[in-house]
Amino acid sequence: MKYVLEAFQTNWIAPLGPNVDAFEKEIASYVGVNDAVAVISGTAAIHLALSLLGVGKGDTVFCSTLTFIASANPILYQGAEPVFIDSEPDTWNMSPEALQNALIDALIQGKLPKAVIVVNLYGQSAKMDEILELCNHYGVPIIEDAAESLGSFYKGKPSGTFGEFGIFSFNGNKIITTSSGGMLVSNDTNKTKEARFLATQARDQAVHYQHSRMGYNYRLSNILAGIGRGQLEVLEERVESRRATFELYYDELAQLPGVHFMPELENTRSNRWLTALTINEEEAGVTVQELLSHLADNNIEARPVWKPLHLQPLFQSAAYYPHSNGESISDLLFNNGICLPSGSNLTIEEQYRIINIIKESMKAVVEKLA
Ligand SMILES: *Cc1c(COP(=O)(O)O)cnc(C)c1O
Repeated sequence: MKYVLEAFQTNWIAPLGPNVDAFEKEIASYVGVNDAVAVISGTAAIHLALSLLGVGKGDTVFCSTLTFIASANPILYQGAEPVFIDSEPDTWNMSPEALQNALIDALIQGKLPKAVIVVNLYGQSAKMDEILELCNHYGVPIIEDAAESLGSFYKGKPSGTFGEFGIFSFNGNKIITTSSGGMLVSNDTNKTKEARFLATQARDQAVHYQHSRMGYNYRLSNILAGIGRGQLEVLEERVESRRATFELYYDELAQLPGVHFMPELENTRSNRWLTALTINEEEAGVTVQELLSHLADNNIEARPVWKPLHLQPLFQSAAYYPHSNGESISDLLFNNGICLPSGSNLTIEEQYRIINIIKESMKAVVEKLA
């Protein structure tokens, strides 16, 4: 409220101003990069990254398949073609094996991708060492889609800082929010300077309005940046609260038959944006659908995991590389996965109500085992 009020009192009601500058500096300093550019959404940040990498018509871009549509839509904005890469079981994120197969094929076809978009699903970092090694070997830049993983770490290094570009989202559902907003981060300050230029209609240095390139109207409002500054101050608390939510679900449910929680890779800290798990229907004696509707009957909203992009009607004709031997891990995760209520303001009492309903759904199996 303090930062938002300041914006009004100083009359900085515009897509620029002191909160925007400060929010950029604070995010850059929090994740330890040279620069950050505040924009209207995470989607806009991905679009700018692709634009800065020169992705255009006829190019291909590799992208994690198990993600929200926003990871891939900007590939289409640029007239390029997505190629989707499967998950692996340890992180649910991009499979280095599938990525390698896709890169080898691309090399043989003489058409390496212009970029690889690696998503850190539900706060868990992908296997960045393996992915970086492959991308460095083939000379393909990485855009790290860290929309869901602000506050997460991979081997001590903040999520979003591994590629040429990283992006964060401050949409209403993310771990911190500006209602709508995003951030593009990079160590390449020439590129971030160009990003600011493109995000403000690519206006040339001149007193009259002059434009030599096509730009966008993507800059974040000074009021929204004020919300972001306040939110960033409580990020650490939010991560702790989401991790505590995960721990309680885990302690209460992990021993039930057929229940498998999304793993946390060794040497990483997930912000546990959402608690996600899979249900083995035979062992659990309940299907994901039954569990979701039992929760819904009790006025509790839980959801399946993201529908993989290679299964989306929009991307019917896109190429897809499964994890290994034709086994598609993302299909399995989609068919058996469920995200539990994980909001930072979820109370312990509410959480126990959810836990008890899940236990009740599995009562038959649990009693048989006892
Ligand atoms: C939310 C999200 C985005 C897009 O962010 P917006 O700010 O909503 O545009 C991109 N990728 C992933 C994985 C997301 O969850």
